[in-house]
Amino acid sequence: MRRWNRNSVLIGSVLVGAIALAGCSSSDSTTATHEDTGGHTGTEVHFSYTGETGPLHWGSLDTEWEVCGTGDAVNVSATYDEHSTQSPIDIVTAGVALRADNGTNAKAIDLSGYTTPTDWTIANNGHTVQVSYPTGGGEMAFKNATLGDKHYELLQYHFHTTSEHSVDGASYAMEMHLVHKEVGADGHDVLDAEGNNVLAVLGVLFDDGTNYSDLGADNPFLASMLSNTGLTTNGGWPEETDTVAAAGTSMDVAYALPTTIPATLAANGITDAMTFYNYTGSLTTPPCTESVQDWLVLAVPVTVSHTQASDFMAAIGGHHNNRPIQELNGRTVTMGMN
Ligand SMILES: [Zn+2]
Repeated sequence: MRRWNRNSVLIGSVLVGAIALAGCSSSDSTTATHEDTGGHTGTEVHFSYTGETGPLHWGSLDTEWEVCGTGDAVNVSATYDEHSTQSPIDIVTAGVALRADNGTNAKAIDLSGYTTPTDWTIANNGHTVQVSYPTGGGEMAFKNATLGDKHYELLQYHFHTTSEHSVDGASYAMEMHLVHKEVGADGHDVLDAEGNNVLAVLGVLFDDGTNYSDLGADNPFLASMLSNTGLTTNGGWPEETDTVAAAGTSMDVAYALPTTIPATLAANGITDAMTFYNYTGSLTTPPCTESVQDWLVLAVPVTVSHTQASDFMAAIGGHHNNRPIQELNGRTVTMGMN
């Protein structure tokens, strides 16, 4: 179904269009001044997930990364520590309000065109493994009175282990982030007041059976993706020197999304597999730009096996790549379902 050609190149020279980004970074040139910050180019600042270049120090590693440590001082008047809107967060379900307009729309999130793009690449940038779509990877639309009739274009998706978001304090084995930019009716990118692309990131939690006993089997989407890389190490995850390019094949990203609901979640009233938690936040890697107008974290996790998760961790160097939980700072989290 999905046959990919292997084309290994040195990651240091890989800039797939403008989209060779680390973690939750946007791809547009108006924002991406640090799109390859893995230290591979020799001139960029290096960040990591532990020690002196770890998350607690990101804000002081580069003047353009200050919001990683303080939050965005431009959007607020003073004491911006208390107003930062950084990601990820712990989603406390007891404090989540069902959207007032829930149920008034046939579909709160409408995905289309995810199967058609054929110009993607998959690459390991040292921070994550990322699949990029230089010309757009399908469209996500909000058909929701509160979220608005907005249209987004998929730029890339990538993975974290363990999950970045947690739900009621519970982490998950992995989390997938599908990064979209908003596109206006005229076809142009929608920018915020600071000139950054307005982003929406769809987060999918992967459970290895730790939180839900009916999960923990191999994830079929990952299995399909990895079986077609042609790579044999680390279960097929690309290593840091591997970039694999599509050869006219498409990949159904929607296949990665949940379709079945774990029994205990269903018993708690989650009746729609695309139920989402929604809040405003930031990129979770430097420069930590607070341009993610809509984080949409799906309430229903998908399955992943211990082997798949550990293979991914091995591929990115044998360490976790999740930023720690950030303060909510008065933000509200809402929930919507189709
Ligand atoms: Zn991410």
